[in-house]
Amino acid sequence: MSSSLGETIIKRLSDVYRIDKDEFAPLNFKDPFLILISIILSQNTTDRNALKAMKNLVANGLTSSQDYVKAGADKIKPLIKVAGLYEQKAKTIISLASWSLEKYGGDLTKLKQEEPEKVYEELTEIKGIGPKTADVFLIFYLNARTFPIDTHIKRVVKRIGIAEGSYDVMRKKLLQVFPDPIKAHILLIKHGRTTCTARKPKCNQCVINDICKYYASLNLSKRIDEG
Ligand code: SF4
Repeated sequence: MSSSLGETIIKRLSDVYRIDKDEFAPLNFKDPFLILISIILSQNTTDRNALKAMKNLVANGLTSSQDYVKAGADKIKPLIKVAGLYEQKAKTIISLASWSLEKYGGDLTKLKQEEPEKVYEELTEIKGIGPKTADVFLIFYLNARTFPIDTHIKRVVKRIGIAEGSYDVMRKKLLQVFPDPIKAHILLIKHGRTTCTARKPKCNQCVINDICKYYASLNLSKRIDEG
């Protein structure tokens, strides 16, 4: 599959979607530690809820690794409740803050000097940070060549017929297909949230239906039914 297919998909999606910063929590922060917290908070919830939780944290003076270690999980929990799974997320955030202090003296801008592979390994050793969370950080903060895959992207690319399989297999494939992974990541999520929804995708309004295997299969079964 060529990169021109990826370029066609991204061109068409970018013509129809406007991206609002609030839809992607990490786009709202420059500080790497806050970017990471926003990504952890957005696990299994909307980015808007993650941003509400971030607002509570920052309003309570919690911005640095030191602040979080000093506060402890119990102070954080009520502030992030709006983002769900708050017990688990509070623990992950405190582990992240401890790692940041121990390894980097609380200054995660130092990660810019590290190899992305090393950053990925260190982050995924923290309980609660998996491949997707680490990849989102790598792509948004380090501008690394990787491709975070969430449930929307997984569903959309599988339906189009571009990639399927394990996380690693899909990541490799998507890097081959899409020359600009950040743009593709954002637009495919937007497409999955608005048009290629899990239930009842709006295929007739979809701007890439002519290159989608799922849509072709729908039309084929319709033709067979009409016989
Ligand atoms: S045609 Fe339907 S299944 Fe295919 S990408 Fe568009 S909305 Fe998704």
